[in-house]
Amino acid sequence: AHGVAGLLADAAARCPDRTAITETGTGTTLTWQELDEAAHAQARRLVEAGLAPGDRVALRLPTSADFALALFAVLRAGGIAVPLSPQAPVPELHPLLAHSGTRFVLQREAEADLPEGITALPPRADGEGDPVDAGRRGEDIAVISYTSGTTGPPRGVQLSHRALLANLDQLAQVDGLLEADDRLLISIPLFHVYGLGPGLLLATAQGASLVLSERFEPRRTLEDCLEHGVTAIAGVPTMYNEFAALGPDELRRGLGTVRRMTSGAAPLHPKVLTAIREATGLDVYEGYGLTESAPVVTSTLVTGYPKPGSVGRPLPGVELRLVASDGTSDEVGLDPDEVDDVFEAGGETGLVSIRGANLFSGYWPDGAHGPDEEGWFRTGDVGYLDSDGDLHLVDRANDLIIVNGFNVFPHEVEEVISQLPEVAEVAVVGVVDERSGEAVKAVVVPADGAALSHQQVADQCVAHLAGYKVPHTVEFAETLPHSATGKLRRLKLR
Ligand code: ATP
Repeated sequence: AHGVAGLLADAAARCPDRTAITETGTGTTLTWQELDEAAHAQARRLVEAGLAPGDRVALRLPTSADFALALFAVLRAGGIAVPLSPQAPVPELHPLLAHSGTRFVLQREAEADLPEGITALPPRADGEGDPVDAGRRGEDIAVISYTSGTTGPPRGVQLSHRALLANLDQLAQVDGLLEADDRLLISIPLFHVYGLGPGLLLATAQGASLVLSERFEPRRTLEDCLEHGVTAIAGVPTMYNEFAALGPDELRRGLGTVRRMTSGAAPLHPKVLTAIREATGLDVYEGYGLTESAPVVTSTLVTGYPKPGSVGRPLPGVELRLVASDGTSDEVGLDPDEVDDVFEAGGETGLVSIRGANLFSGYWPDGAHGPDEEGWFRTGDVGYLDSDGDLHLVDRANDLIIVNGFNVFPHEVEEVISQLPEVAEVAVVGVVDERSGEAVKAVVVPADGAALSHQQVADQCVAHLAGYKVPHTVEFAETLPHSATGKLRRLKLR
């Protein structure tokens, strides 16, 4: 058994001359052997610079070959990689650099506004020498991944070599996910665990080719797909929304060589799934994951049929249960620490709990709040299993709005409003209200050129929702705030 860095050594031994990475922006390509050598050169440089096993090294790099080789170099040198957003200005990253105790930052810019004691290095080094392998594996931490902070302050999720490799094994058991002759397009950030795990690392494990794009621009990205013969896409809902908005002709042409598309990180709207299927005959398979599970938990690929509104079933090796609680001691009405009951298929709504070898080792630095003694981890997500046993996510427990003691799940209200063809996007949040505690507020982005009135939104809600769920206020906006993976940033919106 080896660590995560062993995936690259294996790929280089199995298929040295096959293309590992194509960058759409620069046209640069690297074979597995070239990537392997470049990662050794960079690992030697890190060791020479004084990197000791367990030291944290931040990666401030876009979705590019630089990111891939820097990651493998850090792991080979025995370091712990801390992927950070390359777009965020450095001062914004100071709290994360301090929290993680980072020693080196790998980035393209020579200039750096870094706190004292932290050294900036370029992502690549030249030179020949012996291969480097610090031999870290198993329970050693490979990556500290900071969650996107959609619900609160960012937390450093400790992912061991064991957890990351376990999720790759679990994914590899799902039929038709990714094969050696695939060419996988990634234009989502690699600093997020979705791009990192089921993207970069899975492709390395399978010896598939990566087509990496630093920037997503729907029309340009479709041309890249065609030009590079892309067969698979790992994307997020905002990407598929923008693809669908281009219309059936452009979609059919641009996705001509694609066999399979996956979506994750945020809910994929059923109307987008349908639009893409009608235009191309292709399905988008939705998955559900979180940083703490390295990251994939469920996918509709497990059953092999996409089901609009469902995130599918657990991967082989991942256990899932829905947990109810007495609802007394927690402000959201679902107390994650008190298990009253466990719901099964066709059952009621509960907190999603998971168990598997892909789970994290608690939060940095002390490993707090990891899986419990029995190995279960309670996500902050609320969902139910339908009669087939497929999981549907209702919302995050934290997003629940409580109006006069009644629970309102924002997602349900959003679904109703987004059925109006004049609506491009909608978000529902709770706002403080003197009389009812919280009141429901909808922020609506009208579709391009559509005429939409407050009255239409109100009528639609009154027709389809119980009175206490009907928004108290409706506001129109041009856009909604999203994270790098397309998650709605409710905290910011509020
Ligand atoms: P923070 O915890 O700081 O708010 P975050 O939870 O956004 O950050 P991630 O680990 O990136 O950090 O996100 C995981 C969450 O994303 C899940 O708990 C779930 O709420 C949401 N999610 C992931 N996939 C899906 C999906 N297919 N549909 C709906 N929600 C999803």
